[in-house]
Amino acid sequence: MPDPSGTASLPIPGERRGWWLREALRDEGDPPPAPRLTGSIECDVAIIGGGYTGMWTAYEITERAPDTRVVVLEQDICGGGPSGRNGGFTHGWWDQLPLLVDLYGADRALEIAHASEAAVDQIGEFCERHGVDAWFIRNGYLQVSASAAQDDDWQRAVAACRDLGVADRYVPLTAAEVQRRCASPRFREGVLMPGGASVQPALLARGLRRVLLERGVVIHEETRVKGFRVRGAVHVRTDDGEVRADQLVLAMNAWAAGWPRFRTRLMTWGSYIVLTEPIPDQLRELGWTGGEPIADSRFTVHYFRTTRDGRIAFGAGVGAAGYGGAIGRAFTADRRAVALAAAGLEHLFPMLHEVRIEDAWGGPIDISSDRLPALGSLDGGRVHYAHGYSGNGVGPSRLAGRVLAAVIDGGEDRAATLPIFGARARRFPPEPIRYIGARMIREALIRKDEAEDRNGRPGLIVRSIARLPRLLGYRFGH
Ligand SMILES: Cc1cc2nc3c(=O)[nH]c(=O)nc-3n(C[C@H](O)[C@H](O)[C@H](O)COP(=O)(O)OP(=O)(O)OC[C@H]3O[C@@H](n4cnc5c(N)ncnc54)[C@H](O)[C@@H]3O)c2cc1C
Repeated sequence: MPDPSGTASLPIPGERRGWWLREALRDEGDPPPAPRLTGSIECDVAIIGGGYTGMWTAYEITERAPDTRVVVLEQDICGGGPSGRNGGFTHGWWDQLPLLVDLYGADRALEIAHASEAAVDQIGEFCERHGVDAWFIRNGYLQVSASAAQDDDWQRAVAACRDLGVADRYVPLTAAEVQRRCASPRFREGVLMPGGASVQPALLARGLRRVLLERGVVIHEETRVKGFRVRGAVHVRTDDGEVRADQLVLAMNAWAAGWPRFRTRLMTWGSYIVLTEPIPDQLRELGWTGGEPIADSRFTVHYFRTTRDGRIAFGAGVGAAGYGGAIGRAFTADRRAVALAAAGLEHLFPMLHEVRIEDAWGGPIDISSDRLPALGSLDGGRVHYAHGYSGNGVGPSRLAGRVLAAVIDGGEDRAATLPIFGARARRFPPEPIRYIGARMIREALIRKDEAEDRNGRPGLIVRSIARLPRLLGYRFGH
């Protein structure tokens, strides 16, 4: 294990695709990308983005109306973005219940939370039905406290679940119960979301791609969309071609932050994962054999899970903030973020000091001001979007795909009436204020989390800056 202050012995991120996607592509025999779009084509629904949001939307459209002509345009390959790089934590919004109640009232909040949990089931059902082995394991999502400052972080959500009659969806665990699931010396009490699951994220993304191709969805990879205009139909321009569609879905995730319409509603920052060599014996000693994904309760969260061959994939939300929606190397090649993630692993699992880290990768997270995704329609109902998952998009993108397909279909599906559709969270300030503010606040949050990891108290300036977002009315920060 590396010296946390240095990066020399750690893998260099961004030099190749992350392990999840390399493994998934290898299983497929490393196929070439689907053909780039050249020339003009027509379709019923064009989708920009071949991540989960775009592909679940395509999947749901073909479920409802198999003859719909759907075209997916992806600048990289399907699953090349965060959908093929994430931690694979897959869970509903029971931890967000207090916020949902504030926004929509108790009944609708419950409806949304149930729908978010059903999305997890639907991912499992999809895998089963289509023979996609994406390592779907449903053994609950465990959130723990790893310092005195993190204790009780979930109390409001636990109380909200109890008050609304769903106490079994978000269950507090004693320190001893936590230790039985994973014996880190840092873990204190915890809370379990029994409906939570984990997946191998790239296998899921690539499995979706396979099913879409089998259904006749047209996929153009290495095809970047430059813009679109709505004149009668929607006209989408790519580097070398054009698509004329009745409807358009914008499923670009963090890249949407660079588009003028969304620029002030999304902020971006990086999250990074380090992957150990296989250590099945140590996992057994830790008692961590149930496959449950675990996160601590830092703001710049540590999240960690195991793999089938007995590795730990350990992530940390410690990457830099982006400027003006540009998605550049800060999100894939940040060696400091990798060192911080490795330090987090060593902090929570000091007994793994000697374990080798074999891979490291990162990606952008699209943050909305209330940390819930934004879904809606524009341009007279011809253009639809979903983004802003704020680091929790595996389950929610399944739901978003269903909602967008239901809206496009115009039928009776109640998913289209969920109040998350069309809700608009607060704007962020314009650049450069946003970048300067985000950078400063991010640095303060990392320092505060690090001080609290050592059960110390951060300095007054750090505490004050970390509190700024809340004081300004945003729903994050401390
Ligand atoms: C390191 C990391 C760990 C994470 N861990 C978790 C986790 O454990 N659990 C969880 O729930 N969430 C996690 N997330 C978040 C999760 O990965 C995302 O919320 C989710 O993948 C969003 O899916 P998407 O399809 O909207 O976005 P993406 O997967 O980003 O797909 C968007 C696609 O659009 C394409 N695109 C963008 N612009 C254009 C354009 N102009 N033309 C053509 N194509 C374009 C991109 O190339 C990309 O492939 C994590 C994210 C990261 C980066």
